[in-house]
Amino acid sequence: MHSRRDFLQKVSLGLGAAALSAFPAIANELTSNRQDKQLRVAIMGLGGYANIVAKGMQECKMAKIVGVISGTPSKIETWKKQYDIPDKNTYNYETVSQIKNNPDIDLVYVITPNSLHHKHVLQIAAAGKHVICEKPVADNAKQAREMIAACEKANVKFYIGYRLHFEPHTLELIRMREAGEFGKIMHVNNYAGFKIGDPTQWRLKKSLAGGGAMMDVGVYSLNGARYCTGEEPIWVTAQESKTDPVKFKEVDETITFQLGFPSGIIANCGCTYNFNHVEGLKLMGEKGWAEVNPAFGYGPIRGTTHKGKLEAPDVNHQANQMDGIADCILNNKPDPNVTGHEGLKDMVVIDAVYESIRKNGAKIFINK
Ligand code: NDP
Repeated sequence: MHSRRDFLQKVSLGLGAAALSAFPAIANELTSNRQDKQLRVAIMGLGGYANIVAKGMQECKMAKIVGVISGTPSKIETWKKQYDIPDKNTYNYETVSQIKNNPDIDLVYVITPNSLHHKHVLQIAAAGKHVICEKPVADNAKQAREMIAACEKANVKFYIGYRLHFEPHTLELIRMREAGEFGKIMHVNNYAGFKIGDPTQWRLKKSLAGGGAMMDVGVYSLNGARYCTGEEPIWVTAQESKTDPVKFKEVDETITFQLGFPSGIIANCGCTYNFNHVEGLKLMGEKGWAEVNPAFGYGPIRGTTHKGKLEAPDVNHQANQMDGIADCILNNKPDPNVTGHEGLKDMVVIDAVYESIRKNGAKIFINK
């Protein structure tokens, strides 16, 4: 990434406006130095989660919604009124590349179906805007690497919508683990899932979802195992159970997977799209333990440890995430643990989960 100092050096070397327009991301650095200190965000894909993000963002101090990208004109009209968005900041999927000429938008938040993330992030990077992409980062690790490379080349920041990394109970759990309060971690057991409704929705279509439960709620079990241990898995085994082959013709229904870590411990994890009341994170250490449930929803997150209640404030997850990311971009702070690289780490494991299933549960070693 180029620093603001690099940018100033280039300007002082006499690069003019024409050269600047060839470096739209560097132009973004100019906007990030504004006095108003608010990150100006456009949301791409105005579906269920985009509405939750937009509502949460009304509590933000450092980020605000200023634009939309949508394939549905009626939604654009509604959002324009609801969030006071000017016409000039509205785009559809065909016109989105023109966003590069709009100095009033700093960042685009991609909240479209999973298999469109790769294409959409590449488009936003090419337009020279910072980008947040919803989870899962992509369909596979190869795509995630391409997205990271495109953002680096365009000199824009690339984040994943891992809201729990801004959530105080989750952060307290990580703090306790890092402080050694649980002692050596010996086992982790995480589950996430729900019974999915409408059989026609994109989440059940491989071409739009990339996969099933694993691509969706499985990310929470997996990412949770990584933040419970502070280690990266070195091998994976996985099994799929399918009780409804009609509804889950194209994508996985229920997956259990085991992650082997360098210290020798194993995390047992699972996810499903076909039953409810499946949520929880359990961490067992030599000196203590934690049980978090609910652990992955929009909150409130609740947990108990060997010391008693897991104490932390309840916050709006989406507002905290957006203010946290805005603070990093606007104030040149170190990136939180939600960059594209963090998404890639999960994607590498997800690839291994699917490979293990294809190979009847074989142990898949993860290449560094
Ligand atoms: P929705 O189906 O509710 O919304 C997706 C939106 O994407 C649509 O409304 C549409 O918006 C746009 N879109 C563009 N192309 C298509 C297409 N071919 N088919 C369907 N929609 C399309 O999905 P969600 O909002 O629930 O999920 C979107 C993403 O957010 C997913 O990647 C999901 O994993 C993630 N997510 C993350 C959560 C979290 O807690 N971090 C929670 C929920 C979801 P428009 O009409 O404006 O074009």
